[in-house]
This record gives sequence, C-alpha cells and structure tokens, in this order.
Amino acid sequence: MTMDEMIKSVQKALGVQADGKAGPETWGAIYRQLVTREPLTAPPVPDIADPQSEKHIATLLPEVKPLTRALVEKAANAGIRIRIISGLRTYAEQDALYAQGRTSAGNIVTNARGGYSNHNFGIAFDIGVFEGNRYLGDSPKYKAVGVLGEELGLEWGGNWKTIVDQPHFQLRPVWALNLPERQMLAEFRQRLSAGTAVFA
Ligand SMILES: [Zn+2]
Repeated sequence: MTMDEMIKSVQKALGVQADGKAGPETWGAIYRQLVTREPLTAPPVPDIADPQSEKHIATLLPEVKPLTRALVEKAANAGIRIRIISGLRTYAEQDALYAQGRTSAGNIVTNARGGYSNHNFGIAFDIGVFEGNRYLGDSPKYKAVGVLGEELGLEWGGNWKTIVDQPHFQLRPVWALNLPERQMLAEFRQRLSAGTAVFA
C-alpha cells in the first residue's frame, strides 16, 4: 500500500474528502478523533442498488435499468427509501400470478394473463416504500415518488384511470406514446414472438 492509498483509506474512514492529500480537513478530523475522541461521522451512503432491488433491475431492458436506479436515488435524495420489488415476469410467471385467487390459493392480485401485463416485456417495475426495513404497502410517499418518476420520463401507475397502481412504473416506447394500452401490449407480444426489440 502506498502512502497515498493509506491517506485515502484514513480519509474514507474519517468521512472527509478522499483525495490522498492530508490537508487541514483531514488533520482536523484525525485530531478530533484521536485527541477529543469525537465519534466518527461517516458520510451517509445513499440507499441505492441494494441487492434485492438489483436482482429485479437486472431483469429489465437496458433502456429501463438506468431510469430505475435513478428513481431509487432521487427518492433517497428526497428522504424516501424505496426498493424495487418486482421487474420482469415471464408469461408462465404471469399465468401463475393470474391463477392466484382464481384456481389457486390466495387473493386476486392481477387481472392480466401471460402476455397481457407490461411486466412481461421488461419495461415495467414495482416499488415498495420502506421505513427502515419495514415495508409500507400504503403511504403518501408513493405519490411523491410518482412525481419523481414522471420527472424522469417514466409513466406512473398512480395516474391510471381504470386500475390505480401506485407502486407501478413503466417506460413507454416512443412508438407507443399515443397508443391505447391494449394496442401497445398487442405490439409487445408481436415483437417478442418475432424477436424484434421493444424499443426499436
Ligand atoms: Zn406493476
């Protein structure tokens, strides 16, 4: 380890700018730590890209991934902790979800069969709002995050007229901007079976 690397590591631990040059800021922090025994105040790490969220983000199309991470970061900057709790679902996974509350146990959670949900095409994801590790299924914070998502160019399910779906976000391709949902989904199915890119 070089001297620069050592200084950088010390700076990181002290929570000061890690530039590898020990100036007044670094020496001040060392002094406070060693002489006055102030507790360390590490800089807050934004709550982005937790492993659970990343697992779902990995299933989304490349056009959607950066916006999803940006939403997590924007929410964190606004003091709202969100996680991505759902991403791509295959037709089979969608069918299994559709069966829930109909032919299998549980409550009905969707009205979409396989091929009829935006989640089947890698353009849609759902968020969960958290307070610490506690999941909030219902919170005004969903609306606040909805506004942030729209600023990023995402479509927010909280604005839907038929089924309001506040945890839901999706990126509508340019060709679908003025299409009704049904037509967009039909085009998605056609593209998926033909192997055509969704955003082409
Ligand atoms: Zn959704």
